[in-house]
Amino acid sequence: MHQGNWTCCECNGSITELPFNPRNTDDLKCSDCMAKGRPARETFEGNWSCSKCNADITTLPFNPEDESNLTCKSCYLAEKAQRRQNRMIEGDWKCMDCGTVITSLPFNPRDPETVSCRDCYQK
Ligand SMILES: [Zn+2]
Ligand SMILES: [Zn+2]
Ligand SMILES: [Zn+2]
Repeated sequence: MHQGNWTCCECNGSITELPFNPRNTDDLKCSDCMAKGRPARETFEGNWSCSKCNADITTLPFNPEDESNLTCKSCYLAEKAQRRQNRMIEGDWKCMDCGTVITSLPFNPRDPETVSCRDCYQK
């Protein structure tokens, strides 16, 4: 922390400590104003439609460069959930029942000695 005697450019409160040594002391902000002043998430307004369900999209958290494959929020969330489900962990295990080599699992096994391949698992 750097000690000093500065004033906040927003609320005129005094600042006695800063995590950095300010070069420009004219636009310093106290920690309160700094927290307040954090820019809100920018949203872009427009007239798009979802490439999956055709729902109208009027706001987006980003400015789309490619408007042809936009997804609405619900499709986006569904896709994200799907992707999470499909995530496989790569590794080198052996099925404890049949000895088959297992190279990917949908989870990280706590005990690699007790892994079963999909066939044995379903039995
Ligand atoms: Zn302030
Ligand atoms: Zn959609
Ligand atoms: Zn097996």
